[in-house]
Amino acid sequence: MPELPDVDVYIEHIAARTLGHTLERVRLASPFVLRTAEPPLAAAAGRRVVSASRLGKRIVLGLGDEAGPAALYLVIHLMVAGRFKWKPAGAPVPGKLGLAAFDFDSGTLLLTEASTKKRASVHLVRADGLAALDPGGVEVLGSDVGAFAARLRSENHTLKRALTDPRLFSGIGNAYSDEILHHARMSPVKLTSRLTDEEIARLHASIHVVLEEWTDRLRKEAGEFPEKVTAFRPEMAVHGKYGEPCPRCARPVQRIRYADNESNYCPTCQTDGKLLADRSLSRLMRGDWPKTLEELEAKKTQGRAASAPAGSFAARAASFIPERAAPADADAKTSAPATPAPAGPNAKDYARRGGAIATATNAPKKKSAVTATDASAPAPGRATSPAAPGRATSPAPGKKGSATAPGKTGSAVAPGKTGSATRGHSRRR
Ligand SMILES: [Zn+2]
Repeated sequence: MPELPDVDVYIEHIAARTLGHTLERVRLASPFVLRTAEPPLAAAAGRRVVSASRLGKRIVLGLGDEAGPAALYLVIHLMVAGRFKWKPAGAPVPGKLGLAAFDFDSGTLLLTEASTKKRASVHLVRADGLAALDPGGVEVLGSDVGAFAARLRSENHTLKRALTDPRLFSGIGNAYSDEILHHARMSPVKLTSRLTDEEIARLHASIHVVLEEWTDRLRKEAGEFPEKVTAFRPEMAVHGKYGEPCPRCARPVQRIRYADNESNYCPTCQTDGKLLADRSLSRLMRGDWPKTLEELEAKKTQGRAASAPAGSFAARAASFIPERAAPADADAKTSAPATPAPAGPNAKDYARRGGAIATATNAPKKKSAVTATDASAPAPGRATSPAAPGRATSPAPGKKGSATAPGKTGSAVAPGKTGSATRGHSRRR
């Protein structure tokens, strides 16, 4: 999902091309993308763009009369897979992905969505309707540490949950919260009520550093118009980097799964070396969940040596451990499916069929349950390992390492990753 840095850079480009220009008409390729009926869309036509701003993760174009302030607001939410393209005036809406075209006298802004789940939205509202679309989150970059602390302590959540809650903070999502927490060296599951003043100041500073650095980087990369908007970028420290070395300590990045999402962190830098375990997953492992990277390594060796009977600890442990092949008979329930997970409506069923792990990791539906962890996805090399026939056929489509990294081909290899299957924020695009 495009977050603050992506959205801000989009807005800069859209503003440069549309401010002061007239919106001549809006062409809807998908009627469902428009979520409002009143005022009618036709009321937007012929108005001038007088402002371009961000509301949470939404993009807002203020439309005014010839002289006055904005009378209407066009509010666009890209959700996960919505993207913009800037084209010459009157450009056709691309058949499969196109949702809408906003025709200005200066060119056409295309709204596309590369996902079977059409979640991007357009609202046309008056000022009062605009307020209703504001989730209420504080703009961290515009607030001092006191205001930030007050908001952070207003509810007791895990840090991951608090940072990504649009009611608390504006514009921060899964990707940048991972990066911020890594920068601040803080555990994603630390409770906001337990933070010291020093920690809050550090977190506040990290938010500034990470968001400003990334906005800068994306601004430079954008060129003519931001075309490569993705939540997974090679320069990221931990987000989407499961199994890859942490840029700070070189130990492997781990992950936590919860609901339909996943968070990445470095145990060494963020959790005093502890692996964050999910309760249901721990139950499945009968208390044998490795608590540190060292234990994980030890169990890895143990699992490799064992010709473990199905369902035994070693078999289960092996399937949880990256960077090695699991015993063949351990794969029945926990291994990656041999065929890519379908994106779209079937994805949930597919995930359910993924077996025990899928069930376990999908169990917590509440977003607050930022507790699930696993180290279960295949690591680089696993797909080709002869010892893991189930995985040997796992697709490693095209890209090096893509069979392993969460979010890249995540759905293809990780049972239970309904999220990436349906939300489609993948590098495949
Ligand atoms: Zn680290």
